[in-house]
Amino acid sequence: METFQKRLCKCCGDILPGRSDKVFCDDRCRNEHHNKQRKAPGLSEYARSVQRCLAKNRRVLLSVVRNRTTCVVDRDLLIRRGFVFEFYSHQRHEGGGVVFFCLDVGYRIISEGKIKVLRSKEGLGIFM
Ligand SMILES: [Zn+2]
Repeated sequence: METFQKRLCKCCGDILPGRSDKVFCDDRCRNEHHNKQRKAPGLSEYARSVQRCLAKNRRVLLSVVRNRTTCVVDRDLLIRRGFVFEFYSHQRHEGGGVVFFCLDVGYRIISEGKIKVLRSKEGLGIFM
């Protein structure tokens, strides 16, 4: 007796026709899935998008602080460069304020339109 069980492609979620041992629609889906897994194994699409956003935020902060340890910039400049304030990796209370980090570089809101960007002590190779 034949059993009919709908199986879904592990990559795109489409219903798989034919052979019951199929896991992907085609080679394109197989390759795409393996590429994603290699870059970030076990992460959902949303988790990956947060990771990309964090990485982008970190690049924006590094692009303004450059080789300094700290600088003050306009909030608008960060936004124009694609910074999304909603995403940060962790926060720390430092010097009477909250510093939001994107991994090893962070920022503090110092006034309405001004942001202080600073590298973490760990990012500078100084561990406390
Ligand atoms: Zn597919």
